[in-house]
Amino acid sequence: MKIHEYQAKEILRAFGVAIPRGIACFSVAEAMEAAHKLNKLDRPDKLGKGGLWVVKAQIHAGGRGKGGGVKVARSLDEVEQYAGQMLGMQLVTRQTGAGGQAVRRLLIEEGVEITREFYIGLVVDRSRRRVCLMASAEGGMDIEEVAAKTPEKIRKIFIDPIAGLTASEAGDIAESIGIGPQAVKEASELLQGLYRAYDATDASLVEINPLVMTSDNRVFALDAKLSFDDNALFRHPELAALRDLDEEDPAEIEASKYDLSYVSLDGNIGCLVNGAGLAMATMDIIKLYGGNPANFLDVGGGATAEKVAEAFKLMLRNPELRAILINIFGGIMKCDVIAEGVVAAAREVKLGVPLVVRLEGTNVELGRKILAESGLPIISAANMADAAAKAVSAAAAAIPETPGPATGRT
Ligand code: GDP
Ligand code: MN
Repeated sequence: MKIHEYQAKEILRAFGVAIPRGIACFSVAEAMEAAHKLNKLDRPDKLGKGGLWVVKAQIHAGGRGKGGGVKVARSLDEVEQYAGQMLGMQLVTRQTGAGGQAVRRLLIEEGVEITREFYIGLVVDRSRRRVCLMASAEGGMDIEEVAAKTPEKIRKIFIDPIAGLTASEAGDIAESIGIGPQAVKEASELLQGLYRAYDATDASLVEINPLVMTSDNRVFALDAKLSFDDNALFRHPELAALRDLDEEDPAEIEASKYDLSYVSLDGNIGCLVNGAGLAMATMDIIKLYGGNPANFLDVGGGATAEKVAEAFKLMLRNPELRAILINIFGGIMKCDVIAEGVVAAAREVKLGVPLVVRLEGTNVELGRKILAESGLPIISAANMADAAAKAVSAAAAAIPETPGPATGRT
C-alpha cells in the first residue's frame, strides 16, 4: 500500500528523521494559512530564512517536480498562485501514465537552501534475505538514469536483521556518498531512523530522493516515499487507515473487496485464473502468442461461485477488453464452481467478447457440462498453448459493435 508524501513524513519524523516543517492542505485558503503559520514559527534550527516555501502536489506517483507538481515559492502571492494551479490539475508524470492523476491535496513546506542532493532507498533484497540500503551522491530527479547507466554510483549495504543498521555502518555509507565530517553524525542518525521506521512499519519501500545538505551542513529528507507490505497491514490498523482510495485503480479497489488478487494491465485479453503462478504463466503464454493481457487475476484456491462471478464482472468493465481466457487447473478449486460462477456472471452482464476456456482437474467433466449447457459462446481449448493461441486470434478478430466499449458496461 502506498501513502502520500506528507503522511510518510509524519511517520518518519516520529522515528527521528529530520524533515522540514510542513502542513497538508486541501484548499488554497488552507495553503495560505499554512504558509503564514510556517513563517511565524520559530526557527531555532535556521531552517529557511523566511519567505521560502515549497508547494507540493500530493499524488501517489513520483516525478512530480518535472511535471509541475513541486514549486518553490518566494512570496505568499506565489504560494497562492502555485496552490491554485496545482489543486484540481491532472498532474502527468513519468509514473502516472498519459491521463495523469488529479491533485486533491497539497503539502506546504518550509523551503530549504539546498547545496547537495543525495539519494537513499531501502528495499528487501530477496536473494540475500536482507533489507538493502542504497545510497548515492547522484540524488535529485534522475536517479532512474543513474541506476541504468552508472549503477556503480549507487552504494549498497545489506542490513543484519538482528543488529539493525549500526551507527558505524550508517556513518560509513554516509561518508561513501560524500557527506562531510560536519554532517556525518546527523546523516547517520537520519539513516538509522529510516531503517527503524522501515522495520517497525513492515515497509516494502522507503525512498528519500532527495536527501539534502543545506548551506549550514544540515541534512533533511526533502522528499519521502513509503510503501507498506499489504500482507502485514493487519498488524498496523493506524497505517491501513492512511489508504487514499482516490489514488487507486477502481477495478483493483473493487477486487480487494472480494479478496481477489487483481492488477489492471494495458492489454485486451482478460485472464481469469486460479493460482498466482498459473496466472503469471497464463500472461506469459499470451505474450508468447503475440497478445497482451488486460489484467492479472488470481481468484484463489477456495473461491466460491459468487467470487468467480465478481471477478468475471470486474474484467468485463474494461472497455479495452476483446477476449477472455479462463485458465483453471482444479486442485482445491473445483471446475464446476468456476463454471457456475462464469455462467452466473455472464447472465447478469452482457458478454460481448469471445470466451476461451481451458479447464483441467477436479470435476472437470461437470464443469465442461455446465458451460456447454449454458448456451454461452465458449471456445474450448485443449491445453494452455491452444488456449493462448485461440484467445489471441479471437481478440484480434473481435471488432467492437460500436466505437468504444465492446462489452456490456453499464
Ligand atoms: P518528485 O519530483 O516527485 O520526486 O518531488 P521532490 O519532492 O523530490 O521535489 C523535486 C525537486 O524539487 C527536488 O529534487 C528539489 O530539487 C526541489 N525542491 C523540493 N523541495 C525544495 C526546497 O525546499 N528548496 C529547494 N530549493 N528546492 C526544493
Ligand atoms: Mn523526489
